[in-house]
Parts: sequence; C-alpha cells; structure tokens
Amino acid sequence: MKLIVTGGAGFIGSAVIRQALQTSDYQVLNLDNLTYAGNLESLGSVAQNPRYHFAKADICDRSALEHIFAEFKPDAIMHLAAESHVDRSIDGPSAFVQTNIVGTYQLLEVSRAYWADLPPEKKATFRFHHVSTDEVYGTLGATGLFREDTPYAPNSPYSASKASSDMLVRAWHHTYGLPVVTTNCSNNYGPYQFPEKLIPVVTLNALAEKRLPVYGKGDNIRDWLYVEDHARALLLVLQKGRLGEVYNVGGRNERTNLEVVHSICDILDELQSLKDKRPHRSLIEFVQDRPGHDKRYAIDATKLETELGWKAQENFASGIRKTVEWYLENRSGWCARILDGSYRMERLGVLKS
Ligand code: NAD
Repeated sequence: MKLIVTGGAGFIGSAVIRQALQTSDYQVLNLDNLTYAGNLESLGSVAQNPRYHFAKADICDRSALEHIFAEFKPDAIMHLAAESHVDRSIDGPSAFVQTNIVGTYQLLEVSRAYWADLPPEKKATFRFHHVSTDEVYGTLGATGLFREDTPYAPNSPYSASKASSDMLVRAWHHTYGLPVVTTNCSNNYGPYQFPEKLIPVVTLNALAEKRLPVYGKGDNIRDWLYVEDHARALLLVLQKGRLGEVYNVGGRNERTNLEVVHSICDILDELQSLKDKRPHRSLIEFVQDRPGHDKRYAIDATKLETELGWKAQENFASGIRKTVEWYLENRSGWCARILDGSYRMERLGVLKS
C-alpha cells in the first residue's frame, strides 16, 4: 500500500503517519507545504524510516500534484491539509477558501485523472479519504448529537470552507464515481498540537504563569477526541469504510471549556510543586467571546463503533493527563522551538467594531 497523507506535518496528519508506519507496512508520502502549522519536527521519530517520504507542495498547485502522483503512484490518499483554526478564519477567510475549497478541488481533479488511468484491479481498490470536522453541522442546544445524516449548517468561515470541501468530495463520488470515504470528527487534543488551540495554549500559559484566556463564560461544550484514537479511526476507515459513506468520529467526552481548563490546572498543580505559588486556576481570565461561537458540539459515533468496531481507548481524564505531561516534557524542545518563530500566542479572531 502506498499512501499519500496531505497535511502530514500538522497535528493530526503527523499522528496518522507515525501510527501508519508503526502498525502497517505502508509506504507513506507526506504532502505538505509547511505553513505556520506544519512542523517536520513532529515526524522526527519516523524521519529515518525508509518507508517515509516527504514532498513539499501546495495542494492548490495542480502541476506539482500531478508530478507527485505520477512519481509515487499512490494506492490511496488521506486528505488532511487545511487551514484549521477558526479564529484565523475570522481574521482572514481568504486562505481558508483557497486551501480548503480550491485545494480540495485540485486534489480531487488530480486524483480523478490518476484513478481513471489505473489498471482495473488498482482502480477497484483506490481510495480518496477526506478528513473533515463536526463543525459543518453547526451548533447543538443542550441535548442531541451530530449523526451522519444531520443537516449541514456551518457558522464560521472555517466550517463553511470545510462544508464546501465535503460537498465537492461527495459530488466527485456521485458524478464521476471516484471511490471516496469521508470522516467528520470532533475536537482533537494530544501531543504536537500547535499552541493556538485551547488545550496547548492553556497548558503552556499555565507553565509560564501567564493568564489563561477563557472565551465568554467558558460554558461552550466540545466533545474531546484523543488524537491517537482519531488516527486509529482514520486508518480503519481507510481500510474498511464503505465507499461513498460518511463516518463520524467522536470520543464521547463532552466537557465545557472551563472544565477543560480546570482539569489542566489541577493536573499541573499536582505535577509541579506549588510551594510559594498560587493554584493554577487563579490564572484564569474570562475574555471577550468569539463572534458566532458555536454553543455545543457532540458526536454520535455509533456507526463507526458498530460497523467497523472502533472505540476510543482514552477517556478525557487519561488523555488530558498524557497531553499535559507531554507538554511539560517537551516544553524546552518542540514547544520552545515553535514559540521561537513568528507566532507569539496572540489573540486572534476578535472583530474590530
Ligand atoms: P493543522 O493546522 O495542525 O495542520 C494542517 C497541515 O496542513 C499543516 O501541516 C499545514 O502545513 C498543511 N497545509 C495547510 N495548507 C496547505 C496547502 N495549501 N498545501 C499543503 N499543505 C497545507 O491541522 P490539524 O488540526 O492536524 O487538522 C487536520 C485536518 O483535520 C484538517 O482538515 C481539519 O479541518 C480537520 N479537523 C481537525 C480537528 C482538530 O481538532 N484539530 C477537528 C476536526 C477536523
């Protein structure tokens, strides 16, 4: 099996590549143009593996994609490359339209032409796996869960761009017969996540004794999925998912943002000697809410669990402890080198009045 992973230098893509190389005999090509969110250091543990390959390319660049497909001759594509941060999409939606919609379109077209020319046995087993988000379904009230048949109602420029890409993938299957599978997952957390998302921001700020920004009242609810569990789900769907089907992936771990921040603070209190310090919860500061902030996301993962036998192995308590411990251990390595760059953990996505 020769697998192209787009966005493989990102948070989830790097977890997929590390896991694929560990648990299978796949040849894996990481196709990534290394935006601010892409970091090859996250693949340090597999960089010397002869089955790992890297191509620096933009998914919007059709001729670069054609060249890579012709050289590598993939049996499958797992598409994760995207602009992924909602706050950035509020400040600058253009990159989201470009990469998430136009880039997905280019990748679909190159895949379609490549697939059409494959010999029949390769054509039958080729897969295009599109990785998307539960944010395409909009927001939930106090009850209910997102299912695969929940109508789309994206609310942010990010989720609208991902919803568009999902629709393109669906259409390329129905119109051209391209063999696709799609997964929509809830919020991921775990090692190697770029420190602009809630959990790494709060963990690194707490370690530096800086204020811990909580949007609004901290009562927005997310369904947290440990990234290694997600990577297992993605590889399973790639191998066994039914063509044209959508699978929701979620950890059944609903928490308010404030509960998440409290968990991180309490673990850090326990892991670090408090002596003369105040408990980390005292660093919490409630800040202006994100415009259009969706209230609650929660996934019904029954289809993936019953059809393909997947189950999350981490609950939130075990996953968040592993995550905080990882950031503590890698504070002066991976984290410090990321923060040495242009990104300084500034607040994004606040509309100017
Ligand atoms: P990330 O931001 O950490 O990584 C994105 C990767 O894509 C980076 O390595 C970046 O360099 C690369 N990339 C961006 N634009 C590119 C382009 N034009 N050409 C080639 N490469 C490009 O993202 P992530 O958190 O790992 O998310 C991966 C996928 O999963 C995305 O499609 C995202 O929408 C989806 N998703 C993420 C979450 C989450 O909680 N992180 C939840 C649901 C869905």
